[in-house]
Amino acid sequence: MGKNYNSTRSRKIQAQPKEAVIKGLAADGGLFVFDDIDQIKLPLDDMMKMDYKQMAETVLSALLFDFSDAEVKRCVAQAYDGQFDSEEITPVVFSGDDAICELFHGPTSAFKDVGLRMLPQLMSVSLKQKQDAKVMILTATSGDTGKAALAGFQDVDNVGITVFYPDNGVSEIQRLQMVTQQGKNTNVVAIKGNFDDAQSGVKRIFHDEVFKNRFKQDNIIFSSANSINIGRLIPQVVYYFYSYKRLVEEKRIAFGDKVDFCVPTGNFGNVLAGYYAKLMGLPVHRFIVAANANNVLYDFLKTGIYNRNRPFHKTISPSMDILISSNLERLLYYASDKDANYVASLMDELNSYGKYQVKTSVLTNIQSMFSVGFASDEECTAAIQKKYQQDGYVLDPHSACGYAVMEKEKDAEHACVLMATASPYKFCSAVYEALFGKADDNEFKVMEQLEQRTNTAAPKNLKGLQDLEILHRDVIEIGEMKACVEAKTKRLFR
Ligand SMILES: *Cc1c(COP(=O)(O)O)cnc(C)c1O
Repeated sequence: MGKNYNSTRSRKIQAQPKEAVIKGLAADGGLFVFDDIDQIKLPLDDMMKMDYKQMAETVLSALLFDFSDAEVKRCVAQAYDGQFDSEEITPVVFSGDDAICELFHGPTSAFKDVGLRMLPQLMSVSLKQKQDAKVMILTATSGDTGKAALAGFQDVDNVGITVFYPDNGVSEIQRLQMVTQQGKNTNVVAIKGNFDDAQSGVKRIFHDEVFKNRFKQDNIIFSSANSINIGRLIPQVVYYFYSYKRLVEEKRIAFGDKVDFCVPTGNFGNVLAGYYAKLMGLPVHRFIVAANANNVLYDFLKTGIYNRNRPFHKTISPSMDILISSNLERLLYYASDKDANYVASLMDELNSYGKYQVKTSVLTNIQSMFSVGFASDEECTAAIQKKYQQDGYVLDPHSACGYAVMEKEKDAEHACVLMATASPYKFCSAVYEALFGKADDNEFKVMEQLEQRTNTAAPKNLKGLQDLEILHRDVIEIGEMKACVEAKTKRLFR
């Protein structure tokens, strides 16, 4: 019978978990999904006694079925031991009436660490079954993903990573985080263009068969660290179970009660992981999807029409400034009762026209599990002020977006957990200005002032940045990306 993952766009394209981790994307451009995920029933009762890492082992073993128990255990240890500044990995803070799951205690102070600490470990184990195979990870970043991917892949055997970021297009803190990255297999390159140029350049390389074939004979393949990779998605399922356990422990709910989760959303990866937890038996009433002014998901969840032909807004929550939510494709797959042909036709429309509309049955199905709201920059700023004045808790702009939407959407019947996705110190100027007015131009000065005025502490990894040596200085034209990848790949692997 054989369990397999398959593409969202064709049941015929199948892969075992290890193969799916290495590939990232299916050959037809679809995303890898596991049909029988709703048949997995995790031992919820037992999990209430587990710590985070034991829960992670339980979830990973269930979904990565060609990994041995020993492999899973080693991956979890290497991903999380000593890497997070909280023993709990994702501690749940009870502040006033709110339950806030803090996902930002990893090495780069944003939630992407939870997935990107794990993906490299899984990839490294997966590569062992392919004799001598080597992988070069290519990633374009608008800020958070780049650093988290670099930190995750640093010095992982047989893997190299090259990150492209827009010159002058990321915050000074984000830039310093990247250009001070250590590791003999890491490359960081600024391009003279914006994020879309970087992203398109990387995609062109992925689709250039002639270019890729030149490396195939040396067993070198190119892959990505995007949130479409199951190796990044699956680790995020864990903190939904962990949050639930903490609510039970704190007696905010009784075991078995259904809860809500409010999730600040861009690429739909985080909230999709929550949906996976629900499919695997976690008692969830619904997910509250929070968007910023780039409210393409809001319109979709209200009307069933996904339309990315709209102005792009730069907001104070830049990691949610996204018009194509890649992981939504997986939800469409499950909500259409695993109809791969239907998903393929929607994605064709998206490619050709930038829009599609789902049929009523699919929309109704989705709306029964997901509600949605969005918040403008002004509303996010007001949310930062309100939560601080009320409870002394400092939210970052992304989490504040979630908070603003949660306040509008939550009901009295269900406990709700807010997923907090970044440390306020990663976006300290916006936070400082929300609370105290005009911020200094020097972000490190603002960091110190925010510490003093709110009596909270900045994460060590951010504070120490200004003293680190700059190790990456490349700045290139968009047209030079391919040659750059070629040179870096050869230098590393030959
Ligand atoms: C990436 C990111 C998000 C959006 O998460 P998705 O999984 O893309 O929906 C939200 N907040 C922060 C701080 C992020 O870095």
